[in-house]
Amino acid sequence: MALVHSHVDQLPAHGVAAGPIPDPATMPPLPTVIGRGLRNRCPVCGEGHVFDGYLTVVPACDHCGAPLSLARADDAPPWLTILIVGHLVVPLLYIVDQAYSPSLLVMSAIFLPLTTVLALALLRPVKGAMVGLMLKLGMLKSESDG
Ligand SMILES: [Zn+2]
Repeated sequence: MALVHSHVDQLPAHGVAAGPIPDPATMPPLPTVIGRGLRNRCPVCGEGHVFDGYLTVVPACDHCGAPLSLARADDAPPWLTILIVGHLVVPLLYIVDQAYSPSLLVMSAIFLPLTTVLALALLRPVKGAMVGLMLKLGMLKSESDG
């Protein structure tokens, strides 16, 4: 009897089962879809959440049922995050070094935490935007596709 009830506990909060794959043609325009992903909102409806926790994509939107986990961004979000953070930190590092010539210890004490915090702060919105982009472009694959 316990086995029968155990799967019920794992349903989404609102009990919405995964719906059909959304048609990219009927989805909102690309900037809207990416903006919703940046704000941890379902790219399709703008109401549900993309993430369960920090970076785990929910199987399906808890509002409209869009199968968000089929948008498997893989290593694109970390790649784009490194690209953005690098373009912010490296020029700043150069400017500070030229202006103040601080010691290596001071530079490390400023820029190592700054780089870490920026990367952690940007990774989640970048991944959300990537999920939106992939949904809009129809770049979805199921677990069985490998
Ligand atoms: Zn939704």
